[in-house]
Amino acid sequence: MRTKILLFFVLAITALTLASFIGHNNDTNKTFVVVLDAGHGGKDPGNRGNGYKEKDIALDVTLKVGKILEKQPYIKVIYTRKTDVFLELHERAAIANKADADVFVSIHCNSHHTQAYGAETFVMGLSKSKQNLNTAKKENEVIFLEDDYEEKYVGFDPNSPESFIGLTILQEEYLDQSIMLAGLIQSNMVNNLKRKDRSVKQDVFWVLHNTYMPSVLVELGFLTHKKEGPYVNSKKGREQLAREIANGIVTYRKNLLLATAESQNPVITEKEIEEAMEKAEEDIYEDVVFKVQLLASKKKIETFAYNFNGLKEVNRHLEDGLYKYYYGKTSDYNKIRLMQTYAKDNGYPTCYIVAFRDGEKLKLSQVLKSGDK
Ligand SMILES: [Zn+2]
Repeated sequence: MRTKILLFFVLAITALTLASFIGHNNDTNKTFVVVLDAGHGGKDPGNRGNGYKEKDIALDVTLKVGKILEKQPYIKVIYTRKTDVFLELHERAAIANKADADVFVSIHCNSHHTQAYGAETFVMGLSKSKQNLNTAKKENEVIFLEDDYEEKYVGFDPNSPESFIGLTILQEEYLDQSIMLAGLIQSNMVNNLKRKDRSVKQDVFWVLHNTYMPSVLVELGFLTHKKEGPYVNSKKGREQLAREIANGIVTYRKNLLLATAESQNPVITEKEIEEAMEKAEEDIYEDVVFKVQLLASKKKIETFAYNFNGLKEVNRHLEDGLYKYYYGKTSDYNKIRLMQTYAKDNGYPTCYIVAFRDGEKLKLSQVLKSGDK
């Protein structure tokens, strides 16, 4: 039985290590699917600040972002629309979900009755400030153009984002990643193009609500502003904005790969080892104490966990003029094997198990052979 458990554990560790290696390679080469969503379209022109058409600018910038991304190996781009057509909000999310996309990026232009200006990027969430509601309200109003909107958006009133509370927010699970993506796009637009930073914000955007992946909504700038409107509408402005958004997405993918590689580093956590020890069948040798010898040294080291890569309750014995440092103390051979695995994985690759009886060191092989239980 003992052998079975150990074998299982060794196999599990090997599998973990292999999986991390193979998994890492897979992730690096895996197609990264980006769904680009040009806001509005068809009978929904979006805002008409300064006489510009949000739906046309959004589409043009979206296609430009896509063109840049399509040149990247491993990135596949899917568009919710490539022409001037009307799409309902839920259809946009459905396209992204069907594609099992890695990210969803919706592109829009802002408007306001004042001379407000600047770029901002939104993630889904309940608004922290009333000021943001204005933008969310306008982007959600398209719902009124849809047939049977009352049936389709049960419980949601675009004029009252608070009505959203109580509906499931699928996006919560992806909030951290959405904020990272939004942050990268936003800082690119602000820092590289010297735009006014209206920052990354949370608000209730229906188009983001139903997606099963990190999702953001970019507001390129205010068409209603006397300087920003012409800039966002200009060829140069569109190209610059598209480039910064595309770079933000590329950086996001890179960051994600790095984070994945790190988290897959096959270091066993303390929790995992404790769980394994709890589950492991007992294999008690009476009157025998097993320990893991970490190292022998002339140096007297204080046995604090931080001196031993986080290993707790390390013991020190002076033996034959050498300080020996032991980890663990148990009569359970299965437990000590698990502790050895943990110590090996935490910076003591050459550590080994020693056995004691009445304070005297025994030969491990003999203890195991004797089956003295
Ligand atoms: Zn819009």
